[in-house]
Amino acid sequence: MQNFHQLSLEEFTSWCSSHGEKSFRAKQVWEWVYHKLVPGWDQMTNISLGFRQKLAEHFILQSLELESIQESKDQQTVKFLWKLEDGKLVESVLIFAPGRRTVCVSSQVGCPARCAFCASGKEGLLRNLSRSEIFEQVYLIEKWLLYNVFEERVSNIVYMGMGEPLENYDEVVASIQWFCDPLRLDFSGRKITVSTVGVVEGIYKLIESDLKVNLVLSLHAPNQHVRKKIIPYARKYALEDVLEAMRKYAETTKRDITYEYTLIAGINDEVDHAIELAALVKGDPCTVNLIPYNPVEGLHLQRPEKEVIDLFRQTLEEKGVVVTWRYTKGKDIAAACGQLALKKSSPLALVE
Ligand code: SF4
Repeated sequence: MQNFHQLSLEEFTSWCSSHGEKSFRAKQVWEWVYHKLVPGWDQMTNISLGFRQKLAEHFILQSLELESIQESKDQQTVKFLWKLEDGKLVESVLIFAPGRRTVCVSSQVGCPARCAFCASGKEGLLRNLSRSEIFEQVYLIEKWLLYNVFEERVSNIVYMGMGEPLENYDEVVASIQWFCDPLRLDFSGRKITVSTVGVVEGIYKLIESDLKVNLVLSLHAPNQHVRKKIIPYARKYALEDVLEAMRKYAETTKRDITYEYTLIAGINDEVDHAIELAALVKGDPCTVNLIPYNPVEGLHLQRPEKEVIDLFRQTLEEKGVVVTWRYTKGKDIAAACGQLALKKSSPLALVE
């Protein structure tokens, strides 16, 4: 059995011809799969029963098995736990906000970056995800939304789940191309965000690609010294090189930079850190997104007090930095930033 998503329309058209079907059939099947998002072959009502049976014998539409699905108490976040064909588990998170339904996808099982504050990096990298495993996370959530939440569709995709996307560059780029393919999910690059901890060569490769997605840097520190304490990759990539690459990306794509900054008590939350951070990003077309640390089991880091967080934000704003504040969604189901670590929960509903 072959994974259907791995075929291009041209390849599928020639498969159809070699199985005695006219080429327009390929287009019809393609539309059922990617535009109408039908649950399976049986619902393709303008395709003959015989051909549907052939399709079912040769192709699968889903390689990820839904292990569990968990909704936060405020119903703003849904966490999907997927079992891969080799039994490994990955997670995706669907986040509801006014006018937006964002899917946060995983790009690797585990993560090689091992950031000190992150659950996903605790065990290191287990393996890369393939392009179809990344693609299916969104494709299956699209179906889930369509059939369970009043015909809504996914509006945004963020590569902020498990893994460092630029360490799985080829598969991540291929999955973005599939998302943006008008014959598949037809996303605009503007609706897709890749978050990196600062893999410099990956940022330059992205500059040379024509993808024009949004790029976010997980900065988390105002200088190289503090960065090295919480981000092991900082030993490999000097902060000035990372920032130079990000600025080049912004200049080439005409997109503003977003710097993510997780506030951790006693590590990077002092007023002096805020002053240093403001100086570091001065002149960049950027936003600093502050994320109060989300507790992770087994990690002995703390979230700063509210007053400390407020003072940090105020200091940045007084220095002219544009600051956003990420309201932490999904904390009760460990779906918030840095919390994804494959905790199993009871199934609520299954994707058809
Ligand atoms: S924060 Fe991101 S890059 Fe760092 S360990 Fe976690 S998943 Fe990997």
